[in-house]
This record gives sequence, structure tokens and C-alpha cells, in this order.
Amino acid sequence: MKKVVKFGGSSLASAEQFKKVGAIIRADEERVYVVPSAPGKRDSKDTKVTDMLYGCYALAEEGKDFSKELAAIKARYEEIIKGLELNLSLDEQFKTIEADFKAKAGSDYAASRGEFLNSIIMADYLGYDWIDAATVIFFDEDGEFDSEKTNKVLSKLLKEHDTAVIPGFYGAYENGKVKTFSRGGSDITGSIVARAAKASVYENWTDVSGFLITDPRIIDNPEGIDTITYRELRELSYMGASVLHEDAIFPVRREGIPINIRNTNKPEDAGTWIVESTCQKSKFTITGIAGKKGFCSVSVDKAKMNSEIGFGRKVLQAFENNGISFEHMPSGIDTMTVFVHQDEFMDKEQKVVSEIHRLADPDVVDIESDLALIAVVGRGMKSTRGTAGRIFSALAHADVNVKMIDQGSSELNIIIGVDNADFETAIKAIYDIFVTAQL
Ligand code: ASP
Repeated sequence: MKKVVKFGGSSLASAEQFKKVGAIIRADEERVYVVPSAPGKRDSKDTKVTDMLYGCYALAEEGKDFSKELAAIKARYEEIIKGLELNLSLDEQFKTIEADFKAKAGSDYAASRGEFLNSIIMADYLGYDWIDAATVIFFDEDGEFDSEKTNKVLSKLLKEHDTAVIPGFYGAYENGKVKTFSRGGSDITGSIVARAAKASVYENWTDVSGFLITDPRIIDNPEGIDTITYRELRELSYMGASVLHEDAIFPVRREGIPINIRNTNKPEDAGTWIVESTCQKSKFTITGIAGKKGFCSVSVDKAKMNSEIGFGRKVLQAFENNGISFEHMPSGIDTMTVFVHQDEFMDKEQKVVSEIHRLADPDVVDIESDLALIAVVGRGMKSTRGTAGRIFSALAHADVNVKMIDQGSSELNIIIGVDNADFETAIKAIYDIFVTAQL
């Protein structure tokens, strides 16, 4: 069986980190395809190479001198090469990059060089083949990732390489012009390679031992999540839990390949498994709690709204016409409430309200701001009675006023709206009742 391993920037920030990565790869001969990020921060004050490249290229684009900045980037790689005692020079590559910067090759090209160069070092260090992502990962003319063409070309090519290093984060248009994914996109590359290789697992190595039940800035040392389904992860990452790029699950999901999040600095930890479906019970009824502050609710009341065909559409039209997307829309018999991001909504507030009046002729429109949404997610909720009851009694005990409740029909999550000011207290109360009380 083949494993695809992706290493994030902090796992490759220095020669010392590279050595840990080398040991991890050599410890398992199934780890045959490697996707590296660019070197990340060596400490909290450091700058990621990707950010150095964006900065350097911005100067090039303005026609300014960028030699000092490019030399600083080169020094980052040379330090790694020296520390690994490799007989490798990147002089030629840097000459090409300098010329391409002068010719204004574009900021995507510039940023992609971080992964490009790091993958050359990695291939040399491991003695693996090297495949340029620009020749196997494709974007169409609209800039959309072309998954089918990519999969066809890449899976064929991988058959010719028993082992290979493929740089993360970028691919190319049909005409060869480099394009990157959004930031953190090496996670997506790893998933694409895993799909093409029909890997048994996609290991994503980072600097944490997987997902935590909730945000460690709110709860000290929260418990980790052993296993989470793709769908649960979607719900949690949408609400702000971030370890993995949210588009990274799609390629592997098509093939049912599990993702294992692992910690390069603690390889003995089992990490988190992300799977399609599982009969493993999670340790707790809930799998995770995530949330975000900064929402507004717009409640629209109209007597007999429930029997007026097209009422909801007219209300939503007012948001659409102003380019505002909505997050949630719980409704009652004579009222519907639309949750929107406060920062998007603020400037357009009065326009939207008057448009709702014009289009839907409501009795009252009421706006409330500074709200937070909290998602309590868990596949276990479906088969457990009283989950909602326990959440609300915990919140009542903590003196938190619940403004909104929304349970998806999949019974995978319950979304709760509270005041921004109650956000942390609410998360603590939910964590305590489901996790601390169960330990
Ligand atoms: N190096 C890129 C970034 O910093 C991509 C990645 O690390 O995944 O966003």
C-alpha cells in the first residue's frame, strides 16, 4: 500500500525540522509520495518564505531593486542545505527566478517558488524522484482547478515513479503559466496526489497532534479528537476550526481515502483520523464545538407569513441585491430571521431594510447586532436522546441567554446564537457538560 505524506511549513522551517521529517518518512516504506510546503516560521517572530516571496515580488513589480530580499530568501534555503550536508546548489534556479521576477512573471509564480525550491531539496535529501506540480496539476481558463484532467495525468505519471516529491500549493494553466491555490493550499495538493495514487491514507503532518474538541484559547488543554467524519469536519471548519485547508477533503473524499493529521514534533501521537464514515463511537456524545463572533440578525415579521407564497424569496432577494450572503435562517410562523456577517452588513443595513419593505411588505423588521454563533457538532447526537436539552440547561446554569437555535435535519449539529459577550462562557458551559463531566 502507498501512503501520501504532506508536511506543512513549520515541519520544514529548518534543517533540524527536515531531519525529523526524513526520520518519519524512512520509518515507513509505504510513505512513497511526499508533498512539502515552503519553509515556514522557525519561531513566532520569523517570516514564512511564502510571505518573503510575495514581498520581494511586490518590489519587482514596482520596478524597484529586490536583490536584498531575494538574497534573504536564498539564505533560508542555503541554511537548510548546509544543515543537511547536501551537495546541492540552487544558484541556477535563483538566476531563473531573478530573471522571471524582472520580467514580471506574476505573484502566483513568485509565491509558488517557495514550494518549488523546497521540494528540490527534499527530493535530493530523500533520494526520491522530483515531479514539478506545474506539469501535473491543472487549472482551466477560469482559474478553476481541473480535477479530472489532473487526476488522469497525475495517476498515469505516478505509476512511473516508485517514490516522488511533488511540491504543494501550485499547478498551471493549460499554457504552462503557474497558478497557486489559496493560502495553505499545499493541503489540497496532498489530497490530489493521494487520490491519484489511490493511497491507503493521506497523512498530513503539521505542528499539532490533530484536532481539538474546541479552541485552546477558550479552554485550557482541551481533549483531542481521535476520529471525525468529513461532514463533521466541514461543519466545524466552516465555523472557524482550522488545521486543514477546507478544500483539502474533496479529492480524497471521492476515493474514500482517510486523512490522518499528525504532529511532526510528536510522531508517536496517533493524531486525528478524518474518515468518510465510522462505527467508532466518539469518546463523547459531541465531536467538537466551534463558533464565530460578529453576526447580525435581521428578523422580519409579517402576520400570516407562513401562507404567503414567495415571502422568503422576496426577503432573501433584498440581501442578494446588495451582495450579502446569509449564514442561517431560522423561521417561525409569522417571522423569519436572517443571520449575516456584521462587517459585510453594516454599510448596507438601511438599503437592505428598505428593500425588504419594498419587496416583501413586512409588518416589522428588527435588527440585532453583536451576536455569536456556536456549532455543536457530533455524529453521536443522532442516536443520543436529550443532547439539545443538556446544552440548554448548561447554558441556563451559566446564565447565558440563547437567542437562536437551529438544528440541521441531519442531526449532525446544533447551532446556537448568543450575545458576543457570552461566547466564551457558552463554549465553556457546553464543553464542561459533555467533556469534563464525562472524563
Ligand atoms: N506556502 C503556502 C502558504 O504559506 C502554502 C502552504 O503552506 O500550504 O500559504
